[in-house]
Amino acid sequence: MMGAFCIEQQVPRCARNDNTDEILMIHKVIPVGPLQCNCSIIGDEGTREAMVVDPGDEIDQIMQIVEQHGLAVKQIVVTHAHIDHVGGAMKLKQRTGAPILLNQNDHALLKMMDVQASWVGMRPPGKIAIDQSVGDADRLKVGSLDATVMFTPGHTEGSICLYFPAERKLIAGDTLFAGSIGRTDLPGGSFEKIMDSLRGRVLALPDETIVIPGHGPETTIGEERETNPFLK
Ligand SMILES: [Zn+2]
Repeated sequence: MMGAFCIEQQVPRCARNDNTDEILMIHKVIPVGPLQCNCSIIGDEGTREAMVVDPGDEIDQIMQIVEQHGLAVKQIVVTHAHIDHVGGAMKLKQRTGAPILLNQNDHALLKMMDVQASWVGMRPPGKIAIDQSVGDADRLKVGSLDATVMFTPGHTEGSICLYFPAERKLIAGDTLFAGSIGRTDLPGGSFEKIMDSLRGRVLALPDETIVIPGHGPETTIGEERETNPFLK
């Protein structure tokens, strides 16, 4: 696996019509666990409310960043129920009291955490229960930050991406990577569906959209449209 990378971005939001000062989005991406899943910690610099996306593992490290920035985690969002993305969700819920949001079509995968643990050599995380299913066009708000859920099945039956229109940023889970796409050979995977999700939904986003994939370096929609061999 490539070396760890860690980015911190302060992204000015689009002009607001109420003349308030620019609200900044705190966004930390840290690779966690043996498969180095990119976990996003996203906070509103004003209200200090935050969401954590894909807390697969290393909850102590995630909480350290949350506390460093004085954030209060209000939502735990999981892009899909693979263990490297969801494995730490219950532990993070215990630490923060925040609900776990995941698309219900990944229920079958949630129920086979022990099997998934044996695939990747992780310790089984125990039973994981979701608090709320999220689906296409649902809007997730923390503070003034506003994300839209895009239902993008294919890597799993319940895979979602999270789009922040004001910041032009996509948290892509394992649907799209820099130079590649998610594997579809695991239970619930479908090559046809992931291609439909990519062509019909993900590539409909503007070229300048920054993409944070589930693993590896960030990219943009334009870069992938032009160079990703799977999207030719
Ligand atoms: Zn996955």
